[in-house]
Amino acid sequence: MSEEKSLNFIEEIIEADLAEGKYTQIYTRFPPEPNGYLHIGHAKSICLNFGLGIKYGGKTNLRFDDTNPVKEDTEYVDSIKEDVQWLGFNWQKEVYASDYFEQLYEMAVALIKKGLAYVDDLSAEEIATLKGSPTVPGMDSPARGRSIEESLLLFSEMKAGKYKDGEKVLRAKIDMAATNMHMRDPLLYRIKHANHHRTGDAWCIYPMYDFAHGQSDSIENITHSICTLEFIPHRELYDWLIERLEIFPSKQYEFARLNMTYTVMSKRKLLQLVSEGHVQGWDDPRMPTISGMRRRGFTAESIRTFCDKIGVARRENMIDFSLLEFCLREDLNKSALRVMGVLEPLKLIITNYPQGQTEELISENGPDDAYGTRIVPFSKILWVEREDFMEVAAKKWFRLAPGAMVRLKSAYIIKCDGFTKDADGNISEIQCSYLPETKSGNDISGISVKGTIHWVSAQHALPAEVRLYDRLFKVENTASEEGDFKDYINEDSLKIISNAWVEPSLLTGTTATRYQFLRKGYFCIDKDSAADKLVFNRTVTLKEAWSKEVKKN
Ligand code: ATP
Ligand code: MG
Repeated sequence: MSEEKSLNFIEEIIEADLAEGKYTQIYTRFPPEPNGYLHIGHAKSICLNFGLGIKYGGKTNLRFDDTNPVKEDTEYVDSIKEDVQWLGFNWQKEVYASDYFEQLYEMAVALIKKGLAYVDDLSAEEIATLKGSPTVPGMDSPARGRSIEESLLLFSEMKAGKYKDGEKVLRAKIDMAATNMHMRDPLLYRIKHANHHRTGDAWCIYPMYDFAHGQSDSIENITHSICTLEFIPHRELYDWLIERLEIFPSKQYEFARLNMTYTVMSKRKLLQLVSEGHVQGWDDPRMPTISGMRRRGFTAESIRTFCDKIGVARRENMIDFSLLEFCLREDLNKSALRVMGVLEPLKLIITNYPQGQTEELISENGPDDAYGTRIVPFSKILWVEREDFMEVAAKKWFRLAPGAMVRLKSAYIIKCDGFTKDADGNISEIQCSYLPETKSGNDISGISVKGTIHWVSAQHALPAEVRLYDRLFKVENTASEEGDFKDYINEDSLKIISNAWVEPSLLTGTTATRYQFLRKGYFCIDKDSAADKLVFNRTVTLKEAWSKEVKKN
């Protein structure tokens, strides 16, 4: 936690509650519905809920809000657990709303017995019509006057499977003229003959969100139930149910959801990108999912820092994607190993270097001694970056050009003597001579050059595929544009370089290793990588490259 930061509004509430002695320990929960993979918006909620638990010595549950059997799946449950843990958090309990189906059923029966709920026979359309509008009061369903005994019987028959989907519902009996539409006899239970990923065919009635969520909070003794702003209109019902049922008084608080530029942040839309093949899966490195960002090379630390920086507000806003990249660069700058890889290779021959000779040069792995050093082999034929050579040097060009001198990182100063073109007129090779007395760490020449370039020894280099990513969408906010969000997909968001060369030390890396390819950005090994064909993802460029209209790689 950053010490100097002022409290956010939820922390203020918690500190006041603790000071008053309302609770001796706080209890929060993170309640995903297992119907998709988690995204960076969820990370904000995770960092908030688990962060509060840690900060105030409380507890936090991971609760799967699995009351909709149709869309939910254990694949999602597993991915959610992996993501929360990867972000660095541990839950007190792993719980499922479906664990409470029996208790929730009993609570519904209790409400009916109090005359506070009834079984209705109207269709969804009829219920909607009778509900009225914010300016027109609703009208009672004919079933509203039904006796407690009859509702109890019908509800038990609903549970027993006597009715088809949609034939009956259980509704709270509140106020058909309430200004808050959610209080006009909201639905509590519906019939759904569907197999549930945990309870199988045990149930054919399922509680609605409003009946499951608050009651689950209460069953778990959640003190502060934190959700996003769209649930503000639900709060009155949340409180009504808890008060009428006389159960643990959990309280709901709402904060603004995270929105980010150049991406979408809804599981429904992300699912569309996956199922329609616009991306290669939930963990495609271009996705704003936690699994996608992990695969891309984001660190958990950078995501936590980002969530801390954006804070917790009560008003919606749009956060610049580049702020997340800023946090990422700051972290990778500390943790990434410095290595050399050539993305667009050009052959360089050192004409005065002995044929067949190899030297083991020492190169530093990071910005200071703590990172240690590694050995980089050097020999007569090297790969250098094509863009580091110019046939005719421009003004202030400090890299390779006929007659120009540069330092090869951790090696020697070389002078470019000439070049060769192939039949198509493309530069196929450049010839240089090296100055033996300029060896890095041992340079006694007194010669200084302005440019230093990276390289790899051709005979020692490993072939690699490098995947470069760009924004998934061409516009900052697809929601404020006309048409479908998919019309704004950036078709150039993935560029594959299949003939890159990297230094041999990269063979020993794992997907958890973070690299800085000198001058080229931060990279990590992709899960598709194999010993005979390494595959790297570019996590982020070294500097911000996306400015307003100009897009560069
Ligand atoms: P989506 O709209 O992407 O489908 P959701 O709200 O339906 O998300 P849930 O699984 O219900 O997804 O969310 C679990 C928790 O994460 C909820 O408390 C929700 O409020 C929170 N959450 C979801 N999206 C965001 C977001 N963009 N910013 C902050 N919190 C979020
Ligand atoms: Mg939801």
